[in-house]
Amino acid sequence: MLNIVLFGPPGAGKGTQSERLVEKYQLKHLSTGDIFRANIKGETELGVLAKSFIDRGALVPDEVTIQMLESEVDQNPDANGFIFDGFPRTTAQAEALDAFLAGRSTEITKMLALEVAEDELRVRLAKRAEVSGRPDDANPEVIQNRINVYNNETAPVAEYYKSQGKYQGINGVGSIDEITSRLFDAIDA
Ligand code: ADP
Repeated sequence: MLNIVLFGPPGAGKGTQSERLVEKYQLKHLSTGDIFRANIKGETELGVLAKSFIDRGALVPDEVTIQMLESEVDQNPDANGFIFDGFPRTTAQAEALDAFLAGRSTEITKMLALEVAEDELRVRLAKRAEVSGRPDDANPEVIQNRINVYNNETAPVAEYYKSQGKYQGINGVGSIDEITSRLFDAIDA
């Protein structure tokens, strides 16, 4: 199985690039952000809970997020592999994912981390706000909070995969096609 963690700060381009990777490698794309938004739209219990965190740019609690992700993996027993997009976002999530995958006789192949400077992220998120309809893109304070949460809670997850020798940084600035081919090269290497 090819199991990729596509990592990077909010606005790094994980969603866009995931589509390209899915097409080329026939993987199942699991975006925790997308799953939460679908639950918010459907007004499920999970959605109501998640919304209260997402709207202020905070993380949804680990316990809820981990359980949701694991259930999504188990709903796709025939997948060739997965792209984890937006997960793991804390070290506790990374540890839980390792244990869970080990229980299914598989593991993370690689973490590919899209690297984009903070100023560029703010520009991209403000632009995305014009089309995404996402309340968490529309408010500069919420955007700043997401960037802070990334720096404090999520960036350490890179260290976790570095210590396993699975981390690879990818320059996330350039055209969409250029970045896609950097990702393909990293996977095929
Ligand atoms: P982005 O990467 O652009 O910030 P996402 O769509 O990945 O957006 O996530 C949107 C929001 O959903 C996050 O700000 C957070 O509140 C919540 N979320 C997504 N993934 C996780 C996760 N793994 N753990 C906790 N909260 C999450």
